Amino acid sequence: MISMDHFCVICGSNQSVISVRRPVDYEYSVIPPEKYCYLRCRDCCSEWLSPRPAPEALAAFYPESYHAYSEGEDHGWFAKILVGARAKVRGRKYRSLLSGDSGSLFDVGAGDCRHFYELARYADLKFSGVELQPALAKRAKEMGFDVATGTLESMDIMPHIGRHDIVSMNHVIEHVNDPVEVMRRVLVMLKPGGYVIGQLPTNEGWESHVFGEAWAGYHYPRHLQVFSRKGLRRMLEKLGYEDIQIRSSPHCQIAISMQNILLKWGVKLQLRHGRSNIYGLLLLLSLPFEFVIAAIDKSGIIDFTACKPKGN
Ligand SMILES: [Zn+2]
Repeated sequence: MISMDHFCVICGSNQSVISVRRPVDYEYSVIPPEKYCYLRCRDCCSEWLSPRPAPEALAAFYPESYHAYSEGEDHGWFAKILVGARAKVRGRKYRSLLSGDSGSLFDVGAGDCRHFYELARYADLKFSGVELQPALAKRAKEMGFDVATGTLESMDIMPHIGRHDIVSMNHVIEHVNDPVEVMRRVLVMLKPGGYVIGQLPTNEGWESHVFGEAWAGYHYPRHLQVFSRKGLRRMLEKLGYEDIQIRSSPHCQIAISMQNILLKWGVKLQLRHGRSNIYGLLLLLSLPFEFVIAAIDKSGIIDFTACKPKGN
C-alpha cells in the first residue's frame, strides 16, 4: 500500500522525491519527537513535510518565543518602519479589491488584531477573523473584534457563508494541515466577486536554490508545505477560483536565510524570538536585493489574489 504521504498535498500527484532529508530548525531549535523530511512533487514542484504531523502535534512546533506572538513588541526602529509601510501597501490593496467604498474583511490568523487599526486608516472595512492562540484571540475580543478562537478548519463557518468581500491569509496556508480544505472553506465564506488575498513563501525562485535546506521558507517544522507558483495556481483553479494573480513581494526572508546559513556554519549568534543581534544588519544588507528580485518577479515570497466567480 502506498502511504498518503507520498501524494502531493497541493496537486494530488503521486510522483515525489525527497528534497530535504534532515531539516533543521535554525530559528527556534525545535526538535519534534517524530523524524520528518520534505518531499518534492515531481509534477507541480511543491514540497511538503512527510509523514504528515498529527494535528495535535503542531502546537509543540511553536515555542513561546515564536516571533509572531510578539509582533510589534521586539522590532527595532527600522523593522517598525517596514511594518508600517507594509500596512499601508496592504490597506491600499484591500481597498482596490472592494467593489464599493466599504466592505467586510475576515482575517485568518488574526493575531491580537492590532493591525486592523493600521488597515482602517486606508480602507473602510468591517473586521473579523480567527486566531489559533487563545491569549491573542482574547485580547482581540477585549478590543471589540469578532474573532473566533481556533483554526479555519475547525471553526463554525455557517455565520460567515457568502459574507465577506475579502478573506486575508498572510503566511497561513503553508502552516495548515489541509491547505485544499482551507481554501475550499475560504471560497464558501466569500461573497460572489469577493477576493482572497494572501502571502506565502515559494520555492520557485533563486532563494531556495542558493540557501538549500537553510532557506528560511522551510521554517521547519512549522511550514507543513512549501508551494511552487504552479502548485498554488493549480490548487486554486481546481477549487473554482478565477482571476488568479501571483506576484513577487519584497520581504525579510533573505535576512533570515542568511542568519540560518551563519548558524549552519557554526557562527555563534544569540537568538531572541528567532532573530539574532545582527538581524537588523542582515535586513539592511539584504533589502536592496529583496527589492531587485521582487522587481524582476523572482522573490522567495509571493502575494496572491483570487476571485470567487460572480455566478456562484
Ligand atoms: Zn504537486
